[in-house]
Amino acid sequence: MDAPWQQLQRLLLPWRCLLCDAAGRDGIDLCAGCIDELPRNHSSCARCALPLPLPAALCGECQRRIPPWDAAWAPFRYLWPLDRLESRFKFGADLAAGRCLSTLWQREPMPVERPELIVPVPLHRARLRQRGYNQVSVTMKKRYVSLQGKQGLF
Ligand SMILES: [Zn+2]
Ligand SMILES: [Zn+2]
Repeated sequence: MDAPWQQLQRLLLPWRCLLCDAAGRDGIDLCAGCIDELPRNHSSCARCALPLPLPAALCGECQRRIPPWDAAWAPFRYLWPLDRLESRFKFGADLAAGRCLSTLWQREPMPVERPELIVPVPLHRARLRQRGYNQVSVTMKKRYVSLQGKQGLF
């Protein structure tokens, strides 16, 4: 249940699809049609999450040289329209697009074991000063909180 100020905010500013301007679904600025057409990463390498044309455990590169991490998970592919939302968030300071991406990611069930720690790739200080935020930290924070039920290690 949203706080009263959030309910008032949604009454004045209802969820609106950032891609087609139709009414958004509850809790996200995307409509049902646009959500259904998002590029999902159905077949991917269990080790690096690279999209694969056919289901397989590992991609060719991970079979040749096993990476130093155990698993990677990417529920979506970096294609239209998610690449557009990412650019708006990353380079245009469009925080609504960032919230949308964070919510999408948060709603996806994780196929791998829950991590103990999520570490965003750090930004260079100059880039952080220029942008004002680390886009990975912003999008992952909600996910981490939902995984652990508390903040702390992030
Ligand atoms: Zn839409
Ligand atoms: Zn791989």
